[in-house]
Amino acid sequence: MVQSVETMATRPQTGRTALAVRLRRLPSVDELLQDDRLRRLSAEVSRGVVLQAARHVLERLRSEIRRGLAEAELETHLAHLAQEVEGEARELLAVSLRPVINATGVVLHTNLGRAPLDAEAAQHVVGVATQYSNLEFDLVKGGRGRRDVHAAKFLNRMLGAEASIVVNNNAAAVLLVLNSLAEGGEVIVSRGELIEIGESFRIPDIMAKSGAVLREVGTTNRTRTADYARAISARTRALLRVHRSNFELVGFTERPPLEELVRLAHRRRRLLIEDLGSGLLVDLSATGLGAEPVAAASLRAGVDVVTFSGDKLLGGPQAGIITGKKRYVERCRQNPLFRALRVDKMTFAALEATLRHYLSGGLDAIPALRLIRQTAAEVGGRAEALRAELEPALAGRAQLRVIDGESVAGGGSTPGYALPTKLLAIAPQRMSAAELAVRLRRADPPVIARVEAGRVLVDLRTVFEDQQPALAASIAAAFAG
Ligand SMILES: *Cc1c(COP(=O)(O)O)cnc(C)c1O
Repeated sequence: MVQSVETMATRPQTGRTALAVRLRRLPSVDELLQDDRLRRLSAEVSRGVVLQAARHVLERLRSEIRRGLAEAELETHLAHLAQEVEGEARELLAVSLRPVINATGVVLHTNLGRAPLDAEAAQHVVGVATQYSNLEFDLVKGGRGRRDVHAAKFLNRMLGAEASIVVNNNAAAVLLVLNSLAEGGEVIVSRGELIEIGESFRIPDIMAKSGAVLREVGTTNRTRTADYARAISARTRALLRVHRSNFELVGFTERPPLEELVRLAHRRRRLLIEDLGSGLLVDLSATGLGAEPVAAASLRAGVDVVTFSGDKLLGGPQAGIITGKKRYVERCRQNPLFRALRVDKMTFAALEATLRHYLSGGLDAIPALRLIRQTAAEVGGRAEALRAELEPALAGRAQLRVIDGESVAGGGSTPGYALPTKLLAIAPQRMSAAELAVRLRRADPPVIARVEAGRVLVDLRTVFEDQQPALAASIAAAFAG
């Protein structure tokens, strides 16, 4: 039975009995589940989940009591046990992957899911995913078809390619191409292009896994066509050109023009493969993005096989695209590894819907490209509006200023090129900027922002307009809480 505080105080007890008495104040799981709130919850979710949550909550409380939980706190817990169980049950059922507000200004943020899809592409995914589709069914012949056709239709036309296939990501594309076209032979790569792209994608390692042998040529800063020419031997299958996605080489540097490498490779009857990394489909140099290579230009220059990502500057779903001359792409397709690396219907749906925007000229329909193409003045106008909205609520608690700053495309594209932007700089006065950033990450939806020199920097370039009210509410709540 539950004992009152007075009994415990009036009757001297050994520590052990006192503990047992306090533990006995907790209800049993069955008693707890009789609570109205939890009976309703069991009907709404499942009794199993509520039961599990009740066990967790009671177990946690027991161990806190053993560690000497203060009497007042125990009382509070006992008064709110059912609520705690409900919170725990909802936590158990909560999905792990959730939308966040990206206020970092990094458009293709690898940790935040890279390219966001537009509503039309997302709708197409839903349509295809929730119903049956002609994924591998030829509607004209009434028999088995190939899933490749769904992306190849747009890709071949846009890139001027003979054939295109899609795999899980660009890392898979490079692996498949090297394995299909160079296994057991040598592939020549410039020492200046032996790159690492985060999360263990390293050219030498991928090469080793593909079964091809890396033949390095040149030096870190300078590699000439003659270096490649000297390295070609009977074992050479291909020359590989890799885009330096996440760093820049400046100063005393040299790299052969692509056309020169193509001429050399073809004169010596070898393949030229190019890992383009980000896979820009249209020239974006007008936005100040610099000389990011465009996929079609590589194919026009005569490169045999080109690979690139679907969710970098292309702005679509995670995918790796292999495109180029038909007989080489077909060899990749015939490789048993292709079966292991292929993508599902949702990826095809998102990819073809994104590619269609390019053909219809609607670059602003592709979120990543729209965000990149915003001017500093446009971002600044929104930052001013947000500042004006927040200022009254945060008076005396934070200093708000709109300042000049830089956003980046990110995701291993356009290294060295920043996009001029305007930032809302929030300098909290009664907590540190780091503390404010923590509170913003705990908001619902979580807000991810940069912290610099005692300020939280909010870059609205990567915040969608319809997220702005939630962002304002989260910032205000972070100061209130
Ligand atoms: C990003 C990148 C990759 C890896 O692409 P994922 O789609 O992330 O697998 C490979 N090579 C280069 C040059 C890249 O920039």
